[in-house]
Amino acid sequence: MNIDRFRGVCMHAVQYFGKTSRKQLAQEECAELIQALSKDMRGKKHNVEEEIADVLIMIEQLTHIYDNYKIEKYREEKIDRLNKLME
Ligand SMILES: [Mg+2]
Repeated sequence: MNIDRFRGVCMHAVQYFGKTSRKQLAQEECAELIQALSKDMRGKKHNVEEEIADVLIMIEQLTHIYDNYKIEKYREEKIDRLNKLME
């Protein structure tokens, strides 16, 4: 996946469909991933990989709606905390 194309298409989607539409779809895609993980954990046929891809695409779109500076700051802090837990 070309990261510039990925970001460009996601940014365009926010402009084209609007923020409210993207927030609603992000909720739906997260719910679908939860459902797929639940099926997997119960040993049933699932599509977790497809739903992860959907959520990653929606997450990218959300970064163009919300404060990306804050997102990056939290991401850095939380990855550091995760890393410390494994030391
Ligand atoms: Mg989906």
